[in-house]
Amino acid sequence: MTDEGLSIDPTKPSIARVYDYLLGGKDNYAVDREIGDVFKRDLPGSVAIAFANRAALIRAVGEIVTTTDVRQFIDLGSGLPTADNVHQVAQRHAPESRVVYVDIDPQVLVHGRALLEENDRTRVVAADVRKPDDVRGHPDTVELIDFDRPVAVMFSAILHHVNDEEDPAAIVRYWRGQVPSGSYFFVSHFRSGNNPETVEAEGILQQTFGRGRWRTDAEIESLLDGLEILDPGIVPASLWRPDTVDNRWNNDGERELTVWERLIAAGLARKA
Ligand code: SAM
Repeated sequence: MTDEGLSIDPTKPSIARVYDYLLGGKDNYAVDREIGDVFKRDLPGSVAIAFANRAALIRAVGEIVTTTDVRQFIDLGSGLPTADNVHQVAQRHAPESRVVYVDIDPQVLVHGRALLEENDRTRVVAADVRKPDDVRGHPDTVELIDFDRPVAVMFSAILHHVNDEEDPAAIVRYWRGQVPSGSYFFVSHFRSGNNPETVEAEGILQQTFGRGRWRTDAEIESLLDGLEILDPGIVPASLWRPDTVDNRWNNDGERELTVWERLIAAGLARKA
């Protein structure tokens, strides 16, 4: 996909804009709010899922920059700019950190270029994560990321938008083959509770966008095949390393999670 010909269609809901709405953002249209309100009404935990997910991503970025030497990130399916974007968290701890944001949504490109390309260490690339060669070969990726050094590849709330027949594991495998050992892979993913809430949520997403797959912890683990999954494994996102320096939005990790919060998982893996 090239940047030319990208146009924003305000008559069709977009995953990026509905998610922005759930997070309390303003970059959305009536059509997105309408679907967002269906989620809020029929799936009262959607907002909790969105926040638990975003909070885990922020903690993961903080963990990576404060506990490893990795200073370059590829954020796949990055979404619209919101509070605490990946480069802001990373550069807060390590100003030299570089981030390539990747998204298929034209609005992310427009707003992202305005808000995320804050300095010469951040870029926003319009590409389809299902075509990883396009991301890898994009001039901005080539310019910003040194593939001879470890990279953090962030799959935050993106692989559940890749249906089974599109082979999400192959996307992770592709990136595993591109980065050197010592690289990190963060995944957050809709987590199947094998319960009515899961079935209903999956139904609404498939109906609206034709994508949205709730996977079990074992299925999510298998997406990370060949990588070492670090402690505490694939767990509900709110339970993923709750006690880190970047724990700003999260619970204290001790209270009982709601059934909804259990529908989003997170995990961090390392290439040996
Ligand atoms: N990563 C952010 C986070 O975790 O807060 C945003 C997640 S949002 C739920 C999913 C994002 O993935 C949306 O911005 C959507 O446009 C993007 N997306 C969906 N399918 C995609 C694809 N095939 N290629 C690139 N981006 C995609």
